[in-house]
Amino acid sequence: MAAAFVAHVIDGELVESLRGDRFESVDPWTRAPWTEVALGGHADVDRAVRAARVAADQGPWPRMGHTERGRLLHRLADLIVANGDLLARTDSTDMGRPVSQALARDVPRAAANFRFFADHARLTPAEALPSDHGHHAYTRHEPAGVVAAIAPWNLPLMLASWKIVPALAWGNTVVLKPAEQSPASATILARLALEAGIPPGVLNVVHGYGSDGAGQALTEHPGIDRITFTGESATGRAVSTAAARGLVPVSLELGGKNPALVFADADLDLAVRTAAEGAFGNAGQMCLSGSRIFVARAVYGEFVERLHAAGRAMTAGDPGDPATEIGPLASAEHHRKVSDHLTRARADGCRVYGGEGSGWLVRPAVLTGVPRDAPVQTREVFGPVATVTPFDHEEEAVGLANDTPFGLSATVCTTDLSRAHRVAARLRAGTVWVNCFFVRDLRAPFGGVGASGVGREGGLFSRDFFTEPKAVVVDV
Ligand code: NAD
Repeated sequence: MAAAFVAHVIDGELVESLRGDRFESVDPWTRAPWTEVALGGHADVDRAVRAARVAADQGPWPRMGHTERGRLLHRLADLIVANGDLLARTDSTDMGRPVSQALARDVPRAAANFRFFADHARLTPAEALPSDHGHHAYTRHEPAGVVAAIAPWNLPLMLASWKIVPALAWGNTVVLKPAEQSPASATILARLALEAGIPPGVLNVVHGYGSDGAGQALTEHPGIDRITFTGESATGRAVSTAAARGLVPVSLELGGKNPALVFADADLDLAVRTAAEGAFGNAGQMCLSGSRIFVARAVYGEFVERLHAAGRAMTAGDPGDPATEIGPLASAEHHRKVSDHLTRARADGCRVYGGEGSGWLVRPAVLTGVPRDAPVQTREVFGPVATVTPFDHEEEAVGLANDTPFGLSATVCTTDLSRAHRVAARLRAGTVWVNCFFVRDLRAPFGGVGASGVGREGGLFSRDFFTEPKAVVVDV
């Protein structure tokens, strides 16, 4: 797929960088550049923030009310679905996401994000406090203002939508900085927003790099009122520092090293399916990947064999082929990182089943005999690499699962309902899935503990982050 130039979208216009700079986005399957992208810097960010500020302070968006705003957000959801093929092919070419998965999962979920938050904002009641001492108080949730949204490359459309929709639904204006590895679908999304009737300046997109680039310029800009960031934990620290300097509230959705626990009483077919999807889906390039799997010793041998077989059965190859389930890793740098982990794991004495590949493709790898402190066990690999470790009892399983600075998600496979609740309560994670994976209820809190993030988004958590609650106290 060849693309037209990928422009910034600022104040309703598709524009070049003020200095005319561009960079190339590389197709991970061909490993060749497939499009040029506007390379934003301080001046472009400043222009976008100013446009968002005017739209926030003078434009109709924050003032039009939830019904009208919701109608426009639903119209955008319709356009996302109508342009699903283009959006899916764009993400597939930009970062190697299998096109069938982008079409079947990311496009509907992006549209669902818009629909959910449009309705949620419209239907959520605000607090009115019982009259006390002769006065009556109630809460207004007013838009925070201009939101800086910074997104990663691993599920470009879906995660960009997750970053921006609650901000928009609560009446804010947005400057989105997509990842430099996967910029193209964000420009399409902003174009569709204009087509849906969302006013100019409400959703702006500035492309460019992170550190010393558009990302950093955005987080340091004095004109922003909120930062919502998804990316690596190390970057989260830099973003957090910039936010602290500007006294800007920040929401950080960061990395993970998520455990999956398989108990002896689990439905093993379901456990293998869930673990394979959790560890190898999107070539393991998911913050929520269940990359550390702990299995009851009674079923350990059988589980390892079946997980390896499940990984082998996944079709790996050209992400543009509808049959492909595992595409290439997103960039040369990322491929090197994942390959280095596998090389080091072998040197550390681990047994590695699978993990071969050509180009930037890495087939699913199952690792056993992994030392507790091996980098592949402690660091986020972000590739299709699962370590599988046996345990003897529940206490040990919980201890192993919690033995990490991360705490994003965890999966528990068991048919014992008491155990499911008991273990879920003890796991240090923002989300625990029991006998399932990646199921999202947008009303529920989403976020991480420890190195996996700060704050929660979703449902009322999003409202509380993206608005300024105001108490109005009336003397009656
Ligand atoms: P990254 O941190 O390298 O980059 C993320 C974004 O931040 C990019 O747009 C980048 O340009 C920008 N950026 C980089 N340095 C910056 C700086 N100093 N100031 C401002 N912006 C900066 O992350 P990535 O490699 O794109 O994404 C993968 C990471 O994201 C993984 O760690 C993954 O676990 C995490 N992730 C987390 C979630 C979640 O919900 N918790 C979801 C998806 C991905």
